[in-house]
Amino acid sequence: MSTTATDQIKGGSFLLTPLGHLPQFTPEEFGDDAKEFARAARDFMQGEVIPRDEEIDKLDLPLSVKLMKQAGELGLLGLEIPEAYEGMDVDKRTAMLVLEEMSKQGSFAVTYSANCGIGTLPLVYFGTDAQKKAYLPKLATGEWLAAYALTEPGSGSDALGAKATAVLDGDHWVLNGTKMWITNAGFADLFTIFAKVDGQHFSAFLVEKTDPGISTGAEEKKMGIKGSSTRAVILENCRIPKDRLLGELGKGHKIAFGILNIGRFKLGVGSVGGMKRILEYTIKYTSERFQFGKPINSFGLIQQKLADMATKIFVGEALNYRTIGYLDDALHATSWDSPTAGADKMAAIDEFTIECSISKVWGSEALFATADEAVQAFGGYGFSAEYPPEKAQRDCRINRIFEGTNEINRLLIAGTLLKRAMKGDLPLLQFGQQVAKEIANPPKAGDFTGPLARLKHGVELSKRQCMVAAGLAVQVLGQKLVDNQEVMARMSNMLTEIYAMESAIVRAERMLENGHRWAEIARDMTELYVNESWHRVHGDSRMLCADVVEGEALRHALAGVKAFAEFHPTSSARLRGRIASQLIQRGSYPIEII
Ligand SMILES: Cc1cc2nc3c(=O)[nH]c(=O)nc-3n(C[C@H](O)[C@H](O)[C@H](O)COP(=O)(O)OP(=O)(O)OC[C@H]3O[C@@H](n4cnc5c(N)ncnc54)[C@H](O)[C@@H]3O)c2cc1C
Repeated sequence: MSTTATDQIKGGSFLLTPLGHLPQFTPEEFGDDAKEFARAARDFMQGEVIPRDEEIDKLDLPLSVKLMKQAGELGLLGLEIPEAYEGMDVDKRTAMLVLEEMSKQGSFAVTYSANCGIGTLPLVYFGTDAQKKAYLPKLATGEWLAAYALTEPGSGSDALGAKATAVLDGDHWVLNGTKMWITNAGFADLFTIFAKVDGQHFSAFLVEKTDPGISTGAEEKKMGIKGSSTRAVILENCRIPKDRLLGELGKGHKIAFGILNIGRFKLGVGSVGGMKRILEYTIKYTSERFQFGKPINSFGLIQQKLADMATKIFVGEALNYRTIGYLDDALHATSWDSPTAGADKMAAIDEFTIECSISKVWGSEALFATADEAVQAFGGYGFSAEYPPEKAQRDCRINRIFEGTNEINRLLIAGTLLKRAMKGDLPLLQFGQQVAKEIANPPKAGDFTGPLARLKHGVELSKRQCMVAAGLAVQVLGQKLVDNQEVMARMSNMLTEIYAMESAIVRAERMLENGHRWAEIARDMTELYVNESWHRVHGDSRMLCADVVEGEALRHALAGVKAFAEFHPTSSARLRGRIASQLIQRGSYPIEII
C-alpha cells in the first residue's frame, strides 16, 4: 500500500479506522540511500564508539567531543539540517535508521540525540535565516555542539512553571535563572534556553557558551549514561544580543513542546537500537553458558526471554516506522520555501502527538524490560559490572523519565485523543455509537481475510473493547475524566497496545505477501505479540469499567466488553520456542533492515 494519502491522516485515527485501511511505511521498504547512511553509522559505531565504551563511561568528555566531531565529518550530524545551511535534509525515516545505529552505546546515544534533536531542531524549525546561517553550518559539521535547556530545579514536568527570566535592556536580552539536568552542557557551544519575558511571556533564546553571564555547574552523578554530560546551566545577568530571541516572543511553548514530540519518536527508535544490542549479546552468552550439562538457551524459560526480546524489536520497529512514515509524508507536504515553513512543519508533527508519545512510552518500557531480562539471563554475571547487562539496565532507566515522563506521556496519549474528539476532529462519538450497535452482532473471524485474518479479528475486537470501556468513562466521568489519571493511563495503555498490534500485523502481512525470507518468524512474532497484547487490552478494558461503575452497571459494562471477546488464545510457549530456535540457530536477530 502506498503512503501517499498520508496528508489526510489524522493523528489518533488508527483507533477508528479498520486495520489496514491507513497507509503504513514498513522498514522493509527502505531504499539504498537510507541504508548507505545507516551502514556508515554502523561502521562508525562499531569502529570508533563501541570499542571505547569504558572510556566514554568514565566521562571522558574530550573523547565524546572528538567522536561527535568525527560523526560530523561523516555527515551524521547534519542529516536533519536543510541543505541551504549545509545539512543533508534527509527524510525522518533515514535519519531514524541512522539514529538506531547511533543508539548502540547508551551514553553516546544520549549525547548524539540531544545534539541533533532537541539541541539543533529548535533552530531548524524556528530560526530566522540569519540565525540559521550563523549556526546551522557549524552544527552540521560538528564544529559546534548543541544543548536544550528547558528544565529547572523547580519545574520539570510542569515546564511552563519556569522561573528563569529575560529582560530587554537596550539592544540586549538579560537572562537570569538556573536550568537543571542539561544534556551536553559540559561542552555545548550553543544552548536553546527558555525563559519568561516580564515574568509571563515564555520564550526561547539562543545563547552561546562564550556569552557573558552563562556558566555550568558540576557534572551530575547519575545512575546510568555516566558518559554523557549532564549539568546545571546558570544564567547570571547573561547578556545576549536582541536578535537571539528564537521564534516569537511568548510562543516558547510551541518550540518547547513541538521539539519534545520529535524527541519522543526519536527515543522510541533509539530504544530499538538498544534492544538489538542487548539481544545480540544475550543470544551469544546464553549459547555459551552451560548448566545441567546444556547451554542455558535450551531451557524454555531462557528461550522465552530471547523470543520476547526479538518480538519487541520487530513490533517496535513496525510502530516507530509507521509513525515516522506519517511524519515524513506530512512534512513533505510543507515547503521550506514558505515564510511559515517552520510553524507549518511543527504543526505537521504535532498532528501525530499521540503516535509520538506511544513510541516513547512503548519503546522505553520495552527496552527496560529487555535489559532487565538480559540481567536475568546472565544470572549472577548479569548483576556484575563486568558484564554488559548491568550497564544496559542502568543506562536505559532514564528513557522513562526524560522527553516527558511516561506518566505525562500517558496522560497526553489519552488526553489528546479526547480533546480531538471533543473538538470534532476525530469521530470518536460516531465510532462509539457504531460499537454500541455491534454488541448484538460483533465482528466475526470470517469477516477478515489474508494470512493473518485471525489476528486482524483480534485487533478489531480489542478496539471495540477499548471503546466500550472508554465510552463508559466519558459517559460517567464527563469533564472529570481528564483528572482521573489512572483511568486515563489505562486508556493510553489500550491505545498503545492497539497501535502496536496493528503495526506489527501490517508489517508481517506485507512480508508474507512479498515472500520475504524471514516472513515466517515475522508471523510468529506478530502472533506472539497479539496473543499476549490482546489479553492485556481485554484485562485493561474490564478493569477500566470497574474503575468507573459498580454493581449492576458494572455487570452491564462487562457484558459489553465480553461481546467482543471471542478471540481464542494460542500457545505462546510454542511460538516462543519456534522464534527462539531461529535466533539460536542463526546466532543473531535475523530481520536485518540495512
Ligand atoms: C540524565 C538527564 C538528562 C536530561 N536532559 C535534559 C535536557 O537536555 N534538557 C532539559 O531541559 N531537561 C533535561 N532533563 C530533565 C528531564 O526532562 C526531567 O527530569 C523530566 O522532565 C521530569 O522532570 P522532573 O525531574 O522535574 O520530575 P517531576 O516533574 O518533579 O516529576 C516527578 C514525578 O512526578 C510525576 N508527575 C509530575 N507531574 C505529574 C502530573 N501532572 N501527573 C502525574 N504525575 C506527575 C512524574 O511523572 C514523575 O514520576 C534531563 C534529566 C535527566 C535525569
